Amino acid sequence: MQYNSTQDKSKKVSSAQAIAQGISHDGGLFVPETFPRLDLTTIENMLSMSYQERAKLIISQYLTDFTDEEIDDCVYSAYTKVKFGHKNPAPIASMTYNGHSLNLLELWHGPTCAFKDMALQILPHFLTKSLKKAGGGLDAVILVATSGDTGKAALEGFKDVDHTKIIVFYPESGVSAMQKHQMNTQEGENVYVCAIKGNFDDAQTAVKKIFTDDETSKILKKNGMMFSSANSINWGRLLPQIVYYVSAYCDMVNLGKVELGDKINITVPTGNFGNILAAYYAYAMGLPVNKFICASNSNNVLTDFINTGVYNKNREFYTTVSPSMDILVSSNLERLLYHLSGENDEETKSYMDMLKADGIYEVSHEIKEKITSLFYGGFCDEENTKKTIHNLFEQRRYLCDTHTAVAVAVYDDYVRITGDDTPAVIASTASPYKFSKAVLESIGCEDAPASEFDMVEKLHELTGIEVPAPLADLRGKEPRFSEVADKENMQGVVLRALDIE
Ligand SMILES: *Cc1c(COP(=O)(O)O)cnc(C)c1O
Repeated sequence: MQYNSTQDKSKKVSSAQAIAQGISHDGGLFVPETFPRLDLTTIENMLSMSYQERAKLIISQYLTDFTDEEIDDCVYSAYTKVKFGHKNPAPIASMTYNGHSLNLLELWHGPTCAFKDMALQILPHFLTKSLKKAGGGLDAVILVATSGDTGKAALEGFKDVDHTKIIVFYPESGVSAMQKHQMNTQEGENVYVCAIKGNFDDAQTAVKKIFTDDETSKILKKNGMMFSSANSINWGRLLPQIVYYVSAYCDMVNLGKVELGDKINITVPTGNFGNILAAYYAYAMGLPVNKFICASNSNNVLTDFINTGVYNKNREFYTTVSPSMDILVSSNLERLLYHLSGENDEETKSYMDMLKADGIYEVSHEIKEKITSLFYGGFCDEENTKKTIHNLFEQRRYLCDTHTAVAVAVYDDYVRITGDDTPAVIASTASPYKFSKAVLESIGCEDAPASEFDMVEKLHELTGIEVPAPLADLRGKEPRFSEVADKENMQGVVLRALDIE
């Protein structure tokens, strides 16, 4: 299996190279040149498999330059019961809500309590093996721009991993108190964390620029290093995410929610378009899916795009209670456009050029038609997010986080508007304890304490729902990092953190 760049199809690289490099030198993203076929017989065989066995089966079809032993090692090192608390790292919680059935795919049982762990616990294993195969003996410098959850999950995945260094940038006032504390207290000899004055898009744009800057790459190379990425632009991030959608389908069959071969709907709270794209990839392989419901918060650039075919990032940016979705430039959409345009690299590049130059583009009629037939876009404002947390807790005593609430609310609208009652899986992307302040407000707590960990305790008192150990353990831990940089100076921060001038 080879990988192409979305902006220059003539380029072909191995999976090891795609993962080691992160992004193509032309600025495009790596995509598989074909999708391995997942037929119903294969899915039937997967029904009796463990999550880890399902993961091996799917991953091995994409990483064809890895040996079976290497893939075994990656999968079994990442998805352990110790790290995820369950043998199945992605269990489904089913319940009836507002008269219809919710199947919440809980993707947050990993060490940092957000779905990013599903990919970032395995990515370092992919990457160290890829570096050996295709890294030319260089160490990898992982640059991360984060809207909150990726940063911590990447730090946790890469801490003290040989031949890697990791530097994380987050928007100073764009993450929750818990997210900030999680990152600033990170342990490990090879980690650096820095806040920036700006929003996530600023951080992501600057990281992409440093990444593709020839000068900086040369300096790194001279010092025995190369850049790589743990953001969802890295193929090694997306691949593990395909697994849990296929696995969820198997579990839906095993739970008796659907018959083998029946279609499901998939709802995803979306920011950078990585998670929902992984669901689309599962469908491209053959997973029976009817609709993808793309749920946004008040930063509803994707809702408008799905409804009109016009992507316009020139709009107000809102800081919301679901900060991991406060994004106006959804990087992975580029991959979808490439596939839906019939793998047209020139067309894809022209959209991305327009986005860079004017912040706006309109897709062709053909792409628009395909998007409308497969995707539904909806959004949920702050008030409705909180109301949804409240209602779900009142009705079912189930506590969801702010991002998951956005998905539940948009799915609720979808069912009401369309009457489509196809059984649906909803990605539940974080533990409610990562966003205690907003969740406490949502369930009507009027005397919320001021400190983050007192809020966590209060939320536990009021709901009886267990606090995940990795969050409880952070209490009282002293921050190691406190730097706040201007977004123009991020390059300098990188060189300093790497100890090179
Ligand atoms: C990252 C994140 C999202 C958005 O996922 P994308 O892949 O960026 O679309 C949603 N919810 C949570 C909790 C996240 O951390």
